Amino acid sequence: MPPVALQPEPSPYPALESVLVSEAQIKKRLKKLGAEIMALYGQEEITVVAVINGAILFTADLLRNIDNPIRLDCIRISSYRNDTKSNGKPQVLGNLSLDLANRHVLLIDDILDTGKTLSLIVSMIRKLGPASVRTCVLLDKRGRREVEFEADLVGFQIPDKFVVGYGLDYAERYRNLPCIGVLKPHLQNPPEWA
Ligand code: 5GP
Ligand code: MG
Repeated sequence: MPPVALQPEPSPYPALESVLVSEAQIKKRLKKLGAEIMALYGQEEITVVAVINGAILFTADLLRNIDNPIRLDCIRISSYRNDTKSNGKPQVLGNLSLDLANRHVLLIDDILDTGKTLSLIVSMIRKLGPASVRTCVLLDKRGRREVEFEADLVGFQIPDKFVVGYGLDYAERYRNLPCIGVLKPHLQNPPEWA
């Protein structure tokens, strides 16, 4: 069971208004998620498909908590967002290179929001004849769903706020922050990034 919504804490990072999930909380939760994944798959080999760029940090750290044999592939999805809001249909850019037929596929993304991205990728993967498909997300904004979709494994449920850090970006910045937090409003749409 994913933990309940967290109380934001004041941030020591200059770009962040508040920290929603700290580095220590992420580390602790990833150990448990790794154990849940190992319990789900037993001795089976897992073919991990990471949605890049957002899931890069999460995937890299999560996989270090899993002992199963693992094959790793990545899929890139076009950003269909303007600023901090989604507007339209996600598109697949660049395809998978591993064969997924008869494999146990674990799809990993940073955040589940409207559900459009993951439902599109899952239906694509299902057409390739995998033995199973499961999804794992670090963050879930459950209240924001526009299509029916639930992940099998969730790191943290978070409130409806635009977050950055630990792989999540704003205009490709802030992915390297070790925690997840809410960006200060005056840093959204700075003129020098136009
Ligand atoms: P969905 O298709 O579920 O609406 O959105 C999934 C994608 O939107 C995520 O993979 C992520 O790239 C982006 N996204 C959704 N919410 C946030 C957020 O709060 N912060 C950031 N940085 N990206 C988000
Ligand atoms: Mg993404």
